Amino acid sequence: MIAQLSAKITAECPECAGALALNGNTLKGEIVTCSDCGAELEITGINPLTLDLAPQEEEDWGE
Ligand SMILES: [Zn+2]
Repeated sequence: MIAQLSAKITAECPECAGALALNGNTLKGEIVTCSDCGAELEITGINPLTLDLAPQEEEDWGE
């Protein structure tokens, strides 16, 4: 038997409703980036996993 220890957590992006795959060792307060829309999301809870849009800091897209 093969034990799969690398648990993956999936969550839904609150911005675009896309599926996010997170590592099982994700921590509360961590900022992740949605690979679909690029939104920065803060992990506000682990069990169950909840995401919220991270506070927008100054965007520096170059001038
Ligand atoms: Zn998204």
